[in-house]
Amino acid sequence: MKLVYYFGDGQADGAVHQKDLLGGKGANLAEMTRLGIPVPPGFTITTEVCTHYMTEGKYPEELKHQVGESLLKTETIMNQQFGYVVNPLLVSVRSGARQSMPGMMETVLNVGLTNQTIPGLIQQSGDERFVYDAYRRLITMYSDVVMEKALGLKPKDGKGIREQLEVILENFKTEHNYSEDTDLTADDLKAISESFKLCVHNVLGKPFPDDATEQLWGAITAVFKSWNGKRAQAYRRIENIPANWGTAVNVQTMVFGNMGDESATGVAFTRNPATGENQFYGEWLANAQGEDVVAGIRTPNPLNKYSTTSESKNLPSLEEVNHKIYTVLDTVKTRLEVHYHDMQDLEFTIQKGRLWMLQTRTGKRNGAAAIRIAMDMLDEGLISEDEALLRISPENIDEIMHETVDPKSEKSATLLATGLPAGPGGATGQIVFTAEDAESWTQQGKKVILIRNETSPEDVHGMHVASGILTAKGGMTSHAALVARGWGKCCVVGCSTLNINFDTKTLNINGTALNEGDWITLNGSWGNIYNGALSLKKPDLEQNQYFKKLMKLTDQKRRLGIRTNADSPEDAIQARKFGAEGIGLCRTEHMFFEPKRISAMREMILAKDEASRRKAVMKLLPFQRDDFYGILKAMAPHPVTIRLLDPPLHEFLPHTEEQIKKLSQETGINSLDIKSRITALHESNPMLGHRGCRLGIMYPEITEMQARAIFEATTKLVKEGENPFPEVMIPLVGSAPELENQKLIVSQLANEIMKKESVSFDYLIGTMIELPRACVTADEIANYAEFFSFGTNDLTQTTFGFSRDDVGSFMPQYLESKIINNDPFQSIDQLGVGELVKLGVQKGRSTNAKLKIGICGEHGGDPDSISFFNNAGLDYVSCSPYRVPIARLAAAQATIKSKL
Ligand code: PEP
Ligand code: MG
Repeated sequence: MKLVYYFGDGQADGAVHQKDLLGGKGANLAEMTRLGIPVPPGFTITTEVCTHYMTEGKYPEELKHQVGESLLKTETIMNQQFGYVVNPLLVSVRSGARQSMPGMMETVLNVGLTNQTIPGLIQQSGDERFVYDAYRRLITMYSDVVMEKALGLKPKDGKGIREQLEVILENFKTEHNYSEDTDLTADDLKAISESFKLCVHNVLGKPFPDDATEQLWGAITAVFKSWNGKRAQAYRRIENIPANWGTAVNVQTMVFGNMGDESATGVAFTRNPATGENQFYGEWLANAQGEDVVAGIRTPNPLNKYSTTSESKNLPSLEEVNHKIYTVLDTVKTRLEVHYHDMQDLEFTIQKGRLWMLQTRTGKRNGAAAIRIAMDMLDEGLISEDEALLRISPENIDEIMHETVDPKSEKSATLLATGLPAGPGGATGQIVFTAEDAESWTQQGKKVILIRNETSPEDVHGMHVASGILTAKGGMTSHAALVARGWGKCCVVGCSTLNINFDTKTLNINGTALNEGDWITLNGSWGNIYNGALSLKKPDLEQNQYFKKLMKLTDQKRRLGIRTNADSPEDAIQARKFGAEGIGLCRTEHMFFEPKRISAMREMILAKDEASRRKAVMKLLPFQRDDFYGILKAMAPHPVTIRLLDPPLHEFLPHTEEQIKKLSQETGINSLDIKSRITALHESNPMLGHRGCRLGIMYPEITEMQARAIFEATTKLVKEGENPFPEVMIPLVGSAPELENQKLIVSQLANEIMKKESVSFDYLIGTMIELPRACVTADEIANYAEFFSFGTNDLTQTTFGFSRDDVGSFMPQYLESKIINNDPFQSIDQLGVGELVKLGVQKGRSTNAKLKIGICGEHGGDPDSISFFNNAGLDYVSCSPYRVPIARLAAAQATIKSKL
């Protein structure tokens, strides 16, 4: 079995399609090599070896031999030998999973440096200082990753081997009056390396290995083990990455960006990942190793003029300093983009004037950038329409609909400082200083901004829950920036005027002192930090031409109609702007809670006989008519599905003594009578009780009033020259006779009003399908219905027998224990509830071929559910106004995928 895939000098065993086996990094290294791009040679050990090691606790037998073979090929090409005195080869050992997990697993660099090979490397590089610098870095990384973390040792805070070695280094610098690492001489670094080794031996109880092969296998095993490290596990949980994927390990010839001033290292994006603009964007550092750029310890230089920030404006760009290399890099960039048809995130190293590409991968980008890049690449002919649509995730759209800081409040706010604009949008919250605090404060329902000097993968759980992230250090490619951008989270990094005291949980920013819990606001698009909580604003999508173009494209591709759930003219107007083609659910119960209306409603409920009930209910008529007039007008000529009263009546009754007293005064009904009526209306299972069409059947005057309000509003609009289209929807029908009963009342009223007012208008009568029995008897129900709308909230509730209001008491445990994979109230349960939907569709259409079918439960805004409904043959989905653009994209994607 092939366990090791070699790559080097234009030849590679693997290719880009083998991400599952070689991980993203390994597959791309192989692909770049095939393209003839300069990649340091090496090999990838497959993810299958990782899973084998995790389950068996040992490697497959053939592994050693295969690693040896590939190492030999690498040595031959480089004309160097691993572990040998003359011309020694050093390698890096890095993780690389199928899906990028930035910084979540381990890396060991400079593997192969021993007392034997050090003189050889000094001779090869002609730079003793560089060699001892590489050596002390190896000791630090190796002891931390291989000798401590991989063994599961858990030192106390501040007592980890890495921290202890850092103390040695800092003390050395202080004793010698050095301020920078660059002040250290070769002899200093040699002495420090010796102290490091002593410390490692003392703290960890065994010596740092002086054997290249032992180092190599130690590093390989540690990287495999880091797949199950705490950080990686936490990240996998957040990103839904299965544990059995495993990671690959890449062993690759070391190239050095820190071999003097002719050497450098950098990271770049083929397009701007924050805006999507088609401009080469990146950062670099002369005489440095890659980790120096990402760690954000030194402010990186801009790659070119375009990449300049306020922090780096006085620093020279690579374009200026080394135009020749920049031009080569620019050519590689274009080559990679054309080859991959997507924006790439690149890592490069220049060793003594020679360019090496260390990595290419699909670049993480925020929502706005994702949309712009896809639309631009479509224009440039790099991708097709279908590819462009599939490239954008529903989350990207959600993100650009996120809030930004209201410019009006921003104008008058106190600007504390500026940093780099690393993550989009605006965020306001109370400041906290640790990831743990971020988590516990948000659990208490608070909004927080997480403040760190720089973030590390250990912070991801806190970063995930925080509304925004602010760091004192780091550049646009720092850990905080990468992670935040990936999630579309507001983030400002590299705020150099921010001084944090973690002991007292306070900060000072340009002279302003703030304590834990104080409010600040971030503008992540500009890098601004403000004192206090500023108001945030929804974005203006009308101004975003890329978004508009995308939405137009979704409409050309999708089969499903997209409607909205809206109960007010304002929501209807908003949803129309987002592209809604009608209202799929107008709930009418919310309309009864305003003070004037609620007393009429209560009066109706308390009425002792039909006559007084009718009198009370008619008080509600003018209100309802106005409501429907506004909504029908806002949506005309699109259809508006108005659902008749659904909830149990007790929801409208007063609860406290005081409210009862007030109601008694308003209606003249004795308090005791009110109380006894409340008791009479009390139900043990109100969700399964006197609600839905059962109300209209018991109290037909409610149905009559609502139907009259709908049709009188329609009449008024028709007379005004509008073209309203009401659809009257009967809730919670479980049998055909229930619908038949209500339909008769509604249609009689429509006829009566049309006749009396001498108008004619179109309308439909249909029902919600939200009970299992309705699905099973849909063929009979469809004889009386012109449309069905699946109420998947109630259908989920009644199919599972879960109360939708109380499910929180056990659902987290169910999800944790994998008894259930997804919350069925968020994403449709395809196996159970979904099958009922399919049955309902098939049976309904079997007796009524013209039946229009939609869905208006919460699932109408969930992309996976939308895909399911598309395949189940529904005509439309209906969702809340702000989900409409997401639903349009999801519906287009569902159509494309169903044809693949
Ligand atoms: C449903 O049950 O899915 C539905 C849309 O109605 P409601 O949520 O109002 O019960
Ligand atoms: Mg319902």
